[in-house]
Amino acid sequence: MASNETRSRVTVVGSLNMDLVVRAPRLPQPGETLAGRTFAQVAGGKGGNQAVAAARLGARVSMLGCVGADANGAQLRAGLEAEGIDCAALETGTQPSGVALIVVDDASQNTIVIVAGSNGEVTPEAIARHEAVLGAADVVICQLETPPASVHAALAAARRLGKTVILNPAPATGPLPADWLPLIDYLIPNELEAAALTGLPVDSPGDAAKAAAVLRAAGARNVLVTLGARGVLAALDGAPATLYDAPQVEAVDTTAAGDTFIGGLAAQLAQRASVDAAIRFAQRAAALSVTRAGAQPSIPTGAEVDASI
Ligand code: ADP
Repeated sequence: MASNETRSRVTVVGSLNMDLVVRAPRLPQPGETLAGRTFAQVAGGKGGNQAVAAARLGARVSMLGCVGADANGAQLRAGLEAEGIDCAALETGTQPSGVALIVVDDASQNTIVIVAGSNGEVTPEAIARHEAVLGAADVVICQLETPPASVHAALAAARRLGKTVILNPAPATGPLPADWLPLIDYLIPNELEAAALTGLPVDSPGDAAKAAAVLRAAGARNVLVTLGARGVLAALDGAPATLYDAPQVEAVDTTAAGDTFIGGLAAQLAQRASVDAAIRFAQRAAALSVTRAGAQPSIPTGAEVDASI
């Protein structure tokens, strides 16, 4: 791997959560107390997962976010630092660290409740305080687990600074504000998010192409709709929509597949890879991640992706 000095840089603006994961025979009914089988506490949050993915997949990564002044916050920060991620722009706020309470049943169905906590303290002022970290990046990634005003501030600052701007619109509950789309170089929703952003059904590559065309017409330069095992529908600037088939693998756990894809794509784009090569690399990384259990533990390194070809 290249040294820290020569690796290209990715800054992730986003959420960090402690995932509290219980496995139980089934999901509890309202008012019911149920005996679970196992409990695990693991670092998560889309921002954290994408930062870890970009770091393992070859980029020098900075995290702009906010944890609480609590044990979870210390553990989340230490976990990022152990991956070599620069945490100079990771603030410690007054709210508790973000948590996700997750129950998974024997059929792999889940219920998830997220409390944003200190992720809500990633304010537009915090984005402005850390503009140098955005300025030092080649690629800036945002998601929607921090307050909308700060996501907009990060997108606008990154665009003004001439960075490659990626938005993973997750979780998406409806259309994005119209003035966000022209700030985005790569808009990367999954099927559900593409449907929420456009109000169109997105159940097939053809549907994804229609949704992507709407989003491109509204100003997003490139749209990549991830379609799980069916791959990625890419609607790139100046080119007809293209389906990139996913590598066929035995899926064990698809958690963090999208985060791995986005981190891998960002790491490649930061290294000035072609979009085509970046998509193919990110798909191989994401396919490897679904063959392994867990979120962050399933994210492969660049060497593992190279060895899998
Ligand atoms: P999300 O995790 O955000 O819902 P997807 O499920 O669409 O995202 O997965 C993101 C990418 O991960 C896909 O576009 C694909 O490249 C890869 N991927 C996901 N599931 C599989 C699978 N079962 N086999 C191979 N690749 C997969």
